[in-house]
Amino acid sequence: MADNHNEGAKFLKSVHQYFDNAAKFSNLAPGILEQIKACNSVYKVSFPIEIDGKIEVVEGIRVQHSHHKLPSKGGIRFSMQVDEDEVKALATLMTFKCAVVDVPFGGAKGGVKINPRTSSVKTLEKVTRRYAAELIKKNLIGPGMDVPAPDYGTGSREMAWIADTYQALKYGETNALGCVTGKPVGQGGIRGRAEATGLGVYFGIREALADRELLEGKNLDGDTMQGKRIIVQGLGNVGYHAAYFCQQDGALIVGIAEREGGIYNENGIDVKEAFKHRSETGSILDFKDSKNIENSLDLLETECDILIPAALENQININNAAKVKAKIIAEGANGPVTQEAEEILLQNGIIILPDLYLNAGGVTVSYFEWLKNLSNVRFGRMGKRAEEASYRRLVNAIETATGKSMNTQEKAMLIHGSDEIDLVRSGLEDTMINAYHEIRETMRKKNISDMRTAAFLTAIEKIGVSYEALGIFP
Ligand code: GLU
Repeated sequence: MADNHNEGAKFLKSVHQYFDNAAKFSNLAPGILEQIKACNSVYKVSFPIEIDGKIEVVEGIRVQHSHHKLPSKGGIRFSMQVDEDEVKALATLMTFKCAVVDVPFGGAKGGVKINPRTSSVKTLEKVTRRYAAELIKKNLIGPGMDVPAPDYGTGSREMAWIADTYQALKYGETNALGCVTGKPVGQGGIRGRAEATGLGVYFGIREALADRELLEGKNLDGDTMQGKRIIVQGLGNVGYHAAYFCQQDGALIVGIAEREGGIYNENGIDVKEAFKHRSETGSILDFKDSKNIENSLDLLETECDILIPAALENQININNAAKVKAKIIAEGANGPVTQEAEEILLQNGIIILPDLYLNAGGVTVSYFEWLKNLSNVRFGRMGKRAEEASYRRLVNAIETATGKSMNTQEKAMLIHGSDEIDLVRSGLEDTMINAYHEIRETMRKKNISDMRTAAFLTAIEKIGVSYEALGIFP
């Protein structure tokens, strides 16, 4: 795992630097801070797979950054760029991400060196099942141990294979489906997980736009999404949904950057249509009424209100940071801004909504999925009808008292009881709003000017409580 070593090392260094910046504000003992920062375990595997009649050795890794709470949690990425330091950085981020949104898990991440775009479905299935089996064998996957999820290059299909492999090897285990999240709904998944990260990104941006104190002097009109010009890098699961929900709320998606190039239209691009165009033609380029941008990285330097990097790490770095013209950078991806770049961006007055907060919607809904799997019941199943019956009694009482009857549509709206998707979305919205205000409170209390340091500090202090509970005091 050496090809991407420089990038991975840079990423890990950035994450450690971010941690150190925040740790300075903490009163926890230096030893405890060291423990909170350290990666608890790294497990590497190599296994042979037959691909087109040839045997190839595939490398995989799983890093559990923290066991302060169990299970540990984090996605699995499939990419030829997978590198040990990169996965360590991502696992570290997961620990702090979970703490920021009060998801009671430690952080983890996994990776397999395979190109999901050029591999056949058969190969991907073999690789996924074998990687899962290698981890299960060592008790490194399990509902109370470590629970993977989708990440770059993986999705619900891969999670279904992992769950199936786990169930085959742990036949009859009641909580088996809680061994992995991001599964298809038909296999123990939860409604709303697929769009959760993007929806969380939207909720986070919406909170920031309503925060007058934060935006003072930033030359951003109004305090809503209406008319905000957004550029998004990456039209994968996170980028697509983030852009989609922002657009639904009135934003203009003026630019989309992808691997093969980018498109720009100052009047706004229909995200759904652009996604369809890319699926059909294999490229984002040549989309109707939009200008092709040959080098998609140029879009990171293009004038806009909000830039959403939702692809990979280290995208905004020392080479382009000074040229970024966005007023807000909303980190949909993990680690898209390097620590050196951040210094420049902050100096230029750019607000950064940090990954460990902004993209935590995915793991939040993964937590809901895990709860669903442990309880073996769909959310809303027990209460929906009882809720509706009491709303109906209320509506009837209002009609009797006022002597007026409501129309069918009004009634249906008032009587509707919460089902799974309503509960997931409301839980996610509440989580993103609460976490936002906790971070802002830390900024005020500790006189911290950037959100990332405050988010890390909020997380460090929460994790510190676990150690204090064990009697390890500063
Ligand atoms: N891979 C996602 C992340 O980086 C989701 C992790 C999860 O749901 O466990 O946050």
